[in-house]
Amino acid sequence: MAYKKDEEKFKGLAEERVEILFGLAKTDTEESAREYLKSAIRIAKFCNLRLGNKKGLFCRQCQTFFNPENSRVRLNSKKKRVEILCLRCGYKRFYGYGKEQKEKRRKK
Ligand SMILES: [Zn+2]
Repeated sequence: MAYKKDEEKFKGLAEERVEILFGLAKTDTEESAREYLKSAIRIAKFCNLRLGNKKGLFCRQCQTFFNPENSRVRLNSKKKRVEILCLRCGYKRFYGYGKEQKEKRRKK
């Protein structure tokens, strides 16, 4: 990637691909969703893409796409955060829903 224009084009294409793969993962079975996610993550890493709010949709450890059967979502009102537990590998993921966290995220 010698030119910046090329890089931008490349990134746009990669973003589109990741978008499509996430769409497929949503509709398919758990097993094939994992394959879709793996390739989506590979593309994102290769092109330095930010997954942003898509990060909350799958398990970081075992790349399982969350659905009501394989995950448990709880709201922790004391710590003002959402806790997602992956029932497949037991990995827990948190993200805050408080006002401060929202502002912090906006600044980034
Ligand atoms: Zn997991």
